[in-house]
Formats: sequence, structure tokens, C-alpha cells
Amino acid sequence: MAAMLRIVNGRVYDPANGMDGVVRDVCVEDGRIVADVPPEARKIDAGGMVVMPGGVDIHCHIAGSKVNLARKLQPEDHRRDPHLRTRFTRSGTGGTVPSTFATGYRYAALGYTAAMEAAVTPLGARHTLEELQDTPVIDKGFFILVGNNVLLYRLLQEGRHEEFRHTLAWWLSATKSYAPKLVNPGSDELWKGGRNANITRLDEKIGPFDLTPRKVISAFIGAANDLGLPHPVHIHCNNLGHTGNYETTLETMRIAEGRRAHITHIQFHSYGSVAGKSGDNPTSKAREIAEFVNTHPNISADVGAVMFGRSTSMTADAPLAYMLRRFGGGKWVNADTEHESGCGILPFTYQDHIYTNALQWAIGLELFLLSEDPWRMVFSTDHPNGGSFMSYPKLIRLLMDREFRKEEMAKVNQAALENSGLRDCQGREYSLYEIAIITRAGPARLLGLTSKGHLGVGADADITIYEENADKELMFSTPRYVLKDGELIIEDHEFRADHEGRVLHVAPDYDPAIEQVIQPFFEAFYTIQFANYPVDASYLHHHQVIPTTAQMAATGSPAGS
Ligand SMILES: [Zn+2]
Repeated sequence: MAAMLRIVNGRVYDPANGMDGVVRDVCVEDGRIVADVPPEARKIDAGGMVVMPGGVDIHCHIAGSKVNLARKLQPEDHRRDPHLRTRFTRSGTGGTVPSTFATGYRYAALGYTAAMEAAVTPLGARHTLEELQDTPVIDKGFFILVGNNVLLYRLLQEGRHEEFRHTLAWWLSATKSYAPKLVNPGSDELWKGGRNANITRLDEKIGPFDLTPRKVISAFIGAANDLGLPHPVHIHCNNLGHTGNYETTLETMRIAEGRRAHITHIQFHSYGSVAGKSGDNPTSKAREIAEFVNTHPNISADVGAVMFGRSTSMTADAPLAYMLRRFGGGKWVNADTEHESGCGILPFTYQDHIYTNALQWAIGLELFLLSEDPWRMVFSTDHPNGGSFMSYPKLIRLLMDREFRKEEMAKVNQAALENSGLRDCQGREYSLYEIAIITRAGPARLLGLTSKGHLGVGADADITIYEENADKELMFSTPRYVLKDGELIIEDHEFRADHEGRVLHVAPDYDPAIEQVIQPFFEAFYTIQFANYPVDASYLHHHQVIPTTAQMAATGSPAGS
């Protein structure tokens, strides 16, 4: 077990406990934060430094079959950006889709200690768990794609809501995943069977089903809340990337009717159209979207900011990839996973002189700057879709440093800036306290991770210590110290140890009789036997079950087993 440690003289930013730059000791024992340690415990002098909980990424793409396909699609990245081994750490490759080892080390080197892979087909759970097992240092989990699932659609269509809920719980348990994810609900049926068609309206009939996206979204929001999952349903709305889509986004949020729901990469869903012109250049509707989120405490979102440079679009939204591939004309992949989901992947470069790219960049910043509750509008670039997680320090600087933001705004397509509201937001600069909320405390709370994102007694001793610097990009690029589970992983900016993080997953209770409903569907339609489908415990090494509210009440333990 890791040794005892006392961090002294640092300015502590721990928003969950109301600490806003207070100079106080932080004590660590056996991988957890404790109230005190004996005087002989090792001391770290954090004078002139900022102490924060480790970063928590609520939405990124770092493991599984689509991520691996994206790596294979870009061998040039492997040559361009080798990740060399050190005495303590292993080698890998970088680029916008780093290899498993490089992903863990690079996140840790930015002070991140947890990240959630946001889109995995249930059939791909094994592959994903194997890659997550190979992703060092950070804790991690994954969301499963259920929003186009044929069996769940059938149950819903027949009004079998209780069985729908049990089936969803079974699927989460069977895959050892963390949360249900909806992507462009209803689209796969049209895409697969309808000559590359997509669904565009929430009240449109979904192919052969007597269902609409509205019914599907509402059912999943209800089931996730009824199951008391630590994180509510994670929604990639319909019409991602399309001009005028903000109305779909607003309407999707209204479907929640006060129930908890998380809207992901909301920047990609905040586009208006020029009055009287359809299909033209988009405009910013960040103000309308931010206003809705600000006034609806049941809704949370991550921004999905766009950063200029190379990215990789990888999505379960197959029709979107089909649309994007017309712009670049380069390599792309389209794939389908039986009755569960679709997928599209293509390398993409965001360029500051291009109208649409500059507008997307501006909308991301606007959403942050218009947000009145940083706990519910949290940090993401939808890595690697809007940009690599390696661009997080620069994005932090854009939020914290008005002058830098002005300089960057002068470089981009000015017509796009005119059609955004970014110039009107220049009064605001994020404080360190707010940065600590959007990158750590907020995501941890939204994920229901009660022992992460804060430095209170009992929390995981995942701690990042940055040297204070006026250049916030530099400051957040190179933490001086990173502790994971109380172990000093990075010291004086360099790796001093390797570490195996945990897989975080849920195991919601369900009626075992539901298997009699699920099994016949597998026998009739799947390529895999029902008995072989659930992921067994041998795929879990270092792991932690995060309880549902009912399980928490039964054990009286908020932190899980
Ligand atoms: Zn995503």
C-alpha cells in the first residue's frame, strides 16, 4: 500500500468542499485522503503551487473497436508521434488516437486521473475492457450504446416498460459498463435499410417500429432514473452538426420534463440558421442553449469544444460520418454492429480560416462563458472528435485569459465570429476555482463518483499539483506532481512509477426472469450464443462497482465496494 504523505503550503482548490485557494495541508494514507498523518510522514512542499483533485474526463473515446480502427486508419500518426518508454513507463504511439499505454500516460501527465470512454457497442465490451486494462494510471469506465437497440425497441413498442427497464439493467450488468448512451436515436434503422437515410425529427416514425425518437429518449431517461444509476442517460442528440439543429436539442432537453439527463458535446448541437435561408452557413445558438441549461437544474451537459488542428471524428452516428466524408475526401470507415449500433470514423482537420470550423470553435467558448452553473456545463472536446485531450491546457487558457482569447479571435474567420456571440462574452474569465469545477469536481459529481473530484476525507487520493504560472496553458500542461491512489506517479514533472487504474462499472439489480425474454432474441438474431454474451469476471482485474441509489441505501456505503 502506498505510504503516508502530507502536502504542505499549497493553495488548495477543492470546490466540492468550498476550498477556494486556501493554504492548508492535504494528508494521504493508504490511497485515500485522511484528516491527519503522523509527523514522520513524507512531506511535499507545494509552496507557490496549486493543489487540485485529479482531472475527470466525462466524455472521451479512448478504447474499444472503433478506437482501434481509428488507430489502424492512421499509421502516419504512429511515425509522426512516437511515445518513448522511460525507466518506469512503456512505449506507445500518439497522434489524435494514442495507443492504450500512451493514452493513460498522457492523461496522467496532464493531471487527469479518470476518464470515461463514451461509446461502446455492447458486443464490443470485451475488446474495450481489454484495452482499458492496458490503459495505465487512470481509472476508467465506458458507456454502452443502447439507443438503436432492436430488442429494446421491440419491448418499448409493445409497451413492456418494466421488462424494458430490466433488460437495460441486464445489459449494463452483462457488459460491465457504466452508463447507457444514446446516439442519434432512431437513425440506425433508416441508415441500414433506407439508402443512407437519416432521421431528422423527434416525432418521425422509426423505420418499421411504431416508435419515434421522442418516445425512445423519454423511455431511456425514465429507465435510467428508475434504476437509480450513478450517471443518468448520456444523450448525443439527433441532427448533430446540422444547421438549425439547436431546436432539436432544446426539444430533446424538454423531453426530460424535470428528470435528470446529460446532453453530451452540446456545442455540436447548438447551430442556428440564417433567417429565411435553410441549408446555408450555420449561426450560433449558444445563448439559447446555455439559457435553457442555466434554468433547468435537471439537465447537465459537456461542451465538446472544437480546437483547431487535427482530430479524428469517431462516432456511432454513421450518417454523420457519411456527411463529413464528403468534405475531406480522405480515408474513412463505416461499420455496423448487428442489432446494436452503427459507426463511422474519419480523420478531420479543423481550420481557423474556414467559416464552419471557426464558428464551432466560437460556440464552444460561448457555451462556457455563458454558463451560470459550472457544475452542470463541464469540460470536454469529445476527444478526439473536437480535438485531442492534449489540447485541454490551451482550452483552459482560452477560458482563463481574456487577452489570449482576443489574440486567438483575431486569427479566425471573422464572418464566423460575426455570426457567433463570442465578442459579447469578453467580460468573463474563468477562475482557478471554476476550472477545478469544470474539469474535476463537476464531472465527478455528474458521474456519481462520490470519492472523486474532491479532497475531503475518504476521497481517493488522486491529486494534481501545478506550479502557478501566468501562462495557464503552460501551467496545466506540466503538473509538478501527480498522485494516483496516494502513489506518487509524477514528481518534478517526470514519471517515477507506473500504476494500474481501476475499471469503474455498475451492476444494477434486475429480475433474473428477464433472461427468458432476452434469450430467444439472441437465438434468433445474434451471431453469438446468449450464454457466451455476458462478460465474465475474468475481464475485470482492478475494478470497482459504483452502486445505484437503491444499492447505496441497502449498504449505507456511498463509495461502493
Ligand atoms: Zn463522443
